[in-house]
Amino acid sequence: MFYRIPEINYFRASTLEEALELLNKLESVKVLAGGSDLLIDLKIRRYEVKNVVDISGIKELNYIEDRGEHVAIGAATKLQDIVESPIIATKAPVLAEAVNEMASWQIRNVATIGGNLCNASPAADTAPPLLVLNAKLRLVSLEGEREVPITGFFLGPRKTVLRKGELLKEIVVPYERGAGASFIKLGRRNAFTLSVVAVATLVKVRNGIFDDVRVALNSVAPKPVRAVSVEKFLKSREVSMSAIEEGAKRVLQDISPISDVRASADYRREMSAVLTKESLLRSLERAGVKL
Ligand SMILES: Cc1cc2nc3c(=O)[nH]c(=O)nc-3n(C[C@H](O)[C@H](O)[C@H](O)COP(=O)(O)OP(=O)(O)OC[C@H]3O[C@@H](n4cnc5c(N)ncnc54)[C@H](O)[C@@H]3O)c2cc1C
Repeated sequence: MFYRIPEINYFRASTLEEALELLNKLESVKVLAGGSDLLIDLKIRRYEVKNVVDISGIKELNYIEDRGEHVAIGAATKLQDIVESPIIATKAPVLAEAVNEMASWQIRNVATIGGNLCNASPAADTAPPLLVLNAKLRLVSLEGEREVPITGFFLGPRKTVLRKGELLKEIVVPYERGAGASFIKLGRRNAFTLSVVAVATLVKVRNGIFDDVRVALNSVAPKPVRAVSVEKFLKSREVSMSAIEEGAKRVLQDISPISDVRASADYRREMSAVLTKESLLRSLERAGVKL
C-alpha cells in the first residue's frame, strides 16, 4: 500500500474548452472533479497518471436545469446540490432519494454526480436511479458531442465508453409523469457506507395493469444493471402481490454477485430479491396504487 500521491502535474481549467484542449494535448491524464474517488485511487496507485485536469471550477458544468420534458444536470454538479434541488425533488425525486444516502454531508459537498458515474464502480449509487429514469449522458471532446444511453455507458469495473480526450458534460434525465419510483440501499450499517446491494424501481400502472416497470441494481454485477427479467415478467401483467413476489425472484437471472469484504454472494442474491419486492411495493404506493 502507498499513501502518498505521487508527483503529478495539476492543471485547473476555468472553461470547458480549456479542459478539452488540455485533455486532448496531455498524455497520461485524468479528469479531477471532487477528487473523492480519484485522490484515493492515486494514493493506492490504481492509476499511474502524470497529469490531472481539475474541472471543479468550470461553471458551464455546474447546473441543474428544468427543460420541461427533462432535467439537465451538469457533470460537475455537487451531490449535495442534487439533494437540495427543488427541480430534482419535483421531477426526479428518486435520484435525490439515492444521493441523500451517499457518503456524508461533507463528501457530498465536494463529490460530483459526473465523478460517481465516470468512476464506474459497480457500487455507484447514482446509477440505479438514473438507469430506471432512462437517463442519457452527453459526452464531449474537441471532435464534438455524442449522447449515450446510461445502459450503454458502463463497460465493467472502472471502465466506461469514454474515449481519450472526452469528458462527461451533462446528464439528461427524462421527466416521467405518472410514475412511482423508489430507491432502497442496504449497507453494512445505516449510513456513511457503500452498498451491499441497492435497488431502484419505477412503475407506471394503467387500469390495474403494469404499463411500465423498470428495475436496476448496483453491487451485484461487474457494473450497475437493469433487471430485464423482472421487467419482462411484470410488464402488461395485472398488479397483484403474487405477481410482484414472482417477478422479484426473477432478479436472480439478471445478477452475478461476488463475495467480497462487504457481503457474500449468497447474501447479495437473497437480498436482491427481497429489496426488489420491497422497492416495487414502495413505488406502487407512490404511484397511488393500492394492493
Ligand atoms: C468516505 C467516502 C464515502 C463514499 N460513499 C459513497 C456512497 O455511499 N456511494 C457511492 O456511490 N460512492 C461513495 N463514495 C465515492 C465517491 O464519493 C463518489 O463516487 C463521488 O460521486 C465521486 O465524485 P468526485 O467528483 O469526487 O469524482 P473524482 O474522484 O474527481 O473522479 C472519479 C473518477 O471519474 C473521473 N471523472 C470525474 N468527472 C468526470 C467527467 N465529468 N468526465 C470524465 N471523467 C470524469 C475521474 O477522472 C476519476 O476517474 C464515497 C467516497 C468516500 C471517500
